[in-house]
Amino acid sequence: MDISHKKRTLLKVILLGDSGVGKTSLMNQYVYRKFSQHYKATIGADFVTKELQVDDKLVTLQIWDTAGQERFNSLGAAFYRGADCCVLVYDVNAHKTFDTLNNWHDEFIKQVLYLICFGVWPQADLNDHEAFPFVLLGNKVDVDGGNSRKVTEKKAREWCASRGNLPYFETSAKEGYNVDEAFLNVAKIASENEHTQDIYFPGISETVSEAEQRGGCAC
Ligand code: GDP
Ligand code: MG
Repeated sequence: MDISHKKRTLLKVILLGDSGVGKTSLMNQYVYRKFSQHYKATIGADFVTKELQVDDKLVTLQIWDTAGQERFNSLGAAFYRGADCCVLVYDVNAHKTFDTLNNWHDEFIKQVLYLICFGVWPQADLNDHEAFPFVLLGNKVDVDGGNSRKVTEKKAREWCASRGNLPYFETSAKEGYNVDEAFLNVAKIASENEHTQDIYFPGISETVSEAEQRGGCAC
């Protein structure tokens, strides 16, 4: 069978946010029902998958974690490429992680524009990035029974409203609170956004250099 013509059945979801906010913990809680105080980035593993039912459809979520490289510009194009939903995570007890959400949001849009520019983003429509589905998670709501909380739910919801009414969930990866609900919503949004596209992608560097040889970016 020629895999390059197989329709995509996977939904790619990426987790973004500052180091330490609990991205890996949320993923482990959701996929493996496990929580540890001592997580280390898993080297070499780019993503994990989980199958779930969304309405009457069986979908496979492919969840990409950052493997400890949470610096702007440090995540390669392969990380962003073809994402169906971007999950932004902050820690409700650390204001700085909320302040940097703007940067993560902008970084994502910048990367999508770059990929569109080189013709390696599955969506043909240049304006699609404006409607790109993000979901915000405010994690670690369990800490100190909520007494060390620095960012109010109201403030978080205001930020979501200012960025085009993003869905918002408060979660605890430690206690498994709202984690399934949040990812089910992510899966729904990703599935609404699913592109009809080939499952096979050639290497990004190869494709970009081909585009460059053709005269580079047209936008
Ligand atoms: P990442 O860098 O965003 O992937 O964050 P990690 O998942 O590695 O989590 C950083 C630290 O926060 C770890 O020590 C986790 O055990 C802890 N942590 C993550 N989520 C929660 C949570 O919901 N509640 C509490 N109390 N600790 C958490
Ligand atoms: Mg991590």
